[in-house]
Amino acid sequence: MNTEECLICKAPLEYLTQDETMECAVCHKQEASKTRCVNGHYVCSDCHVAFLCVHNSCRSQIAEALGRKLAGDVFDSFSAGTEPGSRINPDAVRLMKQVYCRLPSWETL
Ligand SMILES: [Zn+2]
Ligand SMILES: [Zn+2]
Repeated sequence: MNTEECLICKAPLEYLTQDETMECAVCHKQEASKTRCVNGHYVCSDCHVAFLCVHNSCRSQIAEALGRKLAGDVFDSFSAGTEPGSRINPDAVRLMKQVYCRLPSWETL
């Protein structure tokens, strides 16, 4: 599992010398951690799993959904070229519904 770059913005990570309370950029859960990106993003372990462990067929859709939520202007082209709907793993959809239940774009899945 490569966690050397920010899952949100791909910026390099920085490692603090002691734990700080971080707010997850995805689900807004607060956790103590030493790792965040140079732009201040922190992604909690649950959201890391969602990002990194789902099948490739839906990762771009997750990224797109996250991008819309977090930085719609930056991530606009993130999922260009994917085939929405037809190849999404049902387990991943269930996971996304749990993690990203606040995302309006997933309500129709
Ligand atoms: Zn970042
Ligand atoms: Zn989270």
